[in-house]
Parts: sequence; structure tokens; C-alpha cells
Amino acid sequence: MRPRAGHGGRAASPYQPFLRWIEGEAETMRRRTAAWAKVNSHGHNAAGVREMFALLKRACAALGGRLKAVPCSPQRVVGSDGQWGDRQIGDALSLRVRPSAPIQVYLGGHMDTVFAPSHPFREVASVGSNQLRGPGVGDDKGGLAVLITALEAFERSPFCRSVGYEVFINADEELGSPGSAGHITARAKNFHLGLIYEPCLPDGQLVGPRKGSGNFCVVVRGVAAHAGREFQKGRNAVAAACDLATRIHHLNGRRRDLQINVASLEGGAALNIVPDSAVLRFNARGGKLGDFTWLQNRVQGWVEAIGRREGFAAQTHGGMHSPPKPFKAEARGLFAALASCAHELGFELSWAASGGVCDGNRLAAAGLANLDTLGPRAEGIHGPRETLFLDSLVERAQLSALFLMRLGAERRMPWKSA
Ligand SMILES: [Zn+2]
Repeated sequence: MRPRAGHGGRAASPYQPFLRWIEGEAETMRRRTAAWAKVNSHGHNAAGVREMFALLKRACAALGGRLKAVPCSPQRVVGSDGQWGDRQIGDALSLRVRPSAPIQVYLGGHMDTVFAPSHPFREVASVGSNQLRGPGVGDDKGGLAVLITALEAFERSPFCRSVGYEVFINADEELGSPGSAGHITARAKNFHLGLIYEPCLPDGQLVGPRKGSGNFCVVVRGVAAHAGREFQKGRNAVAAACDLATRIHHLNGRRRDLQINVASLEGGAALNIVPDSAVLRFNARGGKLGDFTWLQNRVQGWVEAIGRREGFAAQTHGGMHSPPKPFKAEARGLFAALASCAHELGFELSWAASGGVCDGNRLAAAGLANLDTLGPRAEGIHGPRETLFLDSLVERAQLSALFLMRLGAERRMPWKSA
């Protein structure tokens, strides 16, 4: 193994003092990640999201620039009764630094987590000397700690002058960015490249191509009736929705890159009433836009068939919210530039495909080449054993800082001219 940067094994580079400064920030990054993970910031927990916003604002103070809250529109949701309602989404944080510099970088992350306040996984604890376990330690609070420390190092260096950026941290990413998607898409045209601080894979690989994702909901209405006296007059919405759920589930395996998860079915109440409403929800992941069209056409045909039955009505809501993200030439070039920074730091970087989606999907679809797993190594994300590997905080902050410093020093983006 080659010596790591900062340990004197390689010829001195002008970037060394700033990379070494990051080594001294290991404890600050650990402390921030732990403190932030203790704040429950599920996207529907307004108080927790506000608290995270305040903590991030304080952490960003050293960067200068102009920080503001960006209001996001509410999320429209179908409730378990089949009725529409609004759920409030917290403000996103925007920090704009050197907006007139010749090179402009979009830097993204999210302050929300998947864990609702009622979730039993709340504690943040060290495991051995190199692991931190807790809700959101990797996704995405450790990522935010890496991002802010990398920028602090960058701002201390003379190479920052030719690079401006916007840090954009939303509060609804885990909900599919329903309130912030418009803001993200609109920003794509203002930047030369995007870096997003989702955790990288447990073995340190970045994610290359990503599937697209869609959330769907079908509301079925029937007719309520007494289950003993007037059973024949009832039209059972739960039974119709169950039949539909089974058909949808069996579409799995019909197209290579399409996966459908029938996630929930709500409906009915008392056992002596024929249920008159049911809400079926499912998620689809597809490698191509055509996968979603194929799925929607089939589901729509079945939903219309339910609606044609006497006494029934049925309607589909939702659709694809994150388009597939192919790993195109410009993003590959960006990856090569980052991998060369990793090499200089003494480790090798590779990439793998993922079925997960993030805001990088949205940016890529809007035309901005980006890499989206610049955060630390973590495993078990979204689950009750989410664990962050602490040594990767310094490693990944150095990786980003070196990339940005080189960008500022060389003032060119070779992946763009390709
Ligand atoms: Zn995430």
C-alpha cells in the first residue's frame, strides 16, 4: 500500500497543508455527525428539521457567502382514507459563495432522514474505535460533515478564488424531494458540475448509474353494506385492491431492469362491514423511461377495468419522481478526475451500479453531470444498524478538498471538452 497523503511519503504538493488541516478536523467531524444524528429530522418532523437547519447554519458560518432559507412547497399526499391532503416540507438551506467566479459547482446533501420520530432507532453510539452507529450517521449527516469540512479546507487555500459554489441542503430527499425538486432542477443550468454527498458504498466505491424510481397509489371505491344482512349489496374495495396488488406484483420478472414493490394496502374497518375504500401503494424502480411507461399502461388498464364494474370506482395517482441516471461520458470524465485525486491521496476509487435514487438523478436529467456519493463509507443505511466508518470522514473530506483545489488551480474541466 502506498503511503497516505500528509504522512510525508510523497513529494510535497501545494495542496498538502490544507489536506493536513483536515486530519486535525477528524474529531470535529465525528462530533458534528453524532450531534446531528441525535436530532430526529424525518421529513415530516417540522421541529426536528428546523433544529437541523439551525445547526447546519452555525456549521456553515466559517464559509462566508450568503446563506438563506429556501421555502419548499408542501407534499401532496393521499391519506389512508383515499382523500388528498398537504404535508408541510421544511425549508432547504442555500449557501452561495462567489457567484461570479468562472467555475461554478453545485454541492448537494440532505438534512432529513428516513426515521420517523416514533422509530425505536434513536441512540447514537460508538462501536469499537472506528464505527459510529445511529440514525442518519451515514445518510446523510456524515455526508454533510464531510462536505462542510472539505469546504473549510478549500476556503483556507489560495485555490478557491476561481471557483464559486452553492451548497443546497434539502429537508425532503428521503420523501422523494417532493417540495425541493423544482428548486434542484432549476439550478442545474447555473453550474458546471454537481457533487452530492450521499454516503459511498461500504467498500468505498462510488455509485455510477442509478435506476429511476416512481411512487404510485391506487384508490379503489366500492359500496359499504352490512356483512350479514345486506352482503349482496356491498362492493368490496379491499378485495378488488388485493386482486390488483397480486397482478402488479406478478409483473416482477417481466422486464429485466424493472422491480416493483407492492408496499402497502389500507382499507376497511369493522369486521361486519363490507369495506367501501382501499388505498394500494407501490414503488417501481426501472433502468429506462420505457420501463415506467410499460408498467403504467398495464396498471392503468386494470384500474379502468375495476372502474367499469358496477358500483366501483378506481383511480391511479403518482408516477416516476426520479428519472433513471445513466453513467454518461461527462460523468465518467468527472469520475476519472476524482479517481486521480484518490490516487494522489493513496487509495483507488471504483464505481458500481445502484437501484437507489437520489437528487443526482434529477440533476442529471436536467443536464448537469454529477457524482452523487462523495460522502463517507456507511453500511446498513435506512435500517436500525446504520453504521458510519469514522476513518472515511477524513479520507472523503480530503478527496473533495483536493478535487476542488485542483479545479481552482488548473481552471479547466477536461471532462467537459471530451
Ligand atoms: Zn441519502
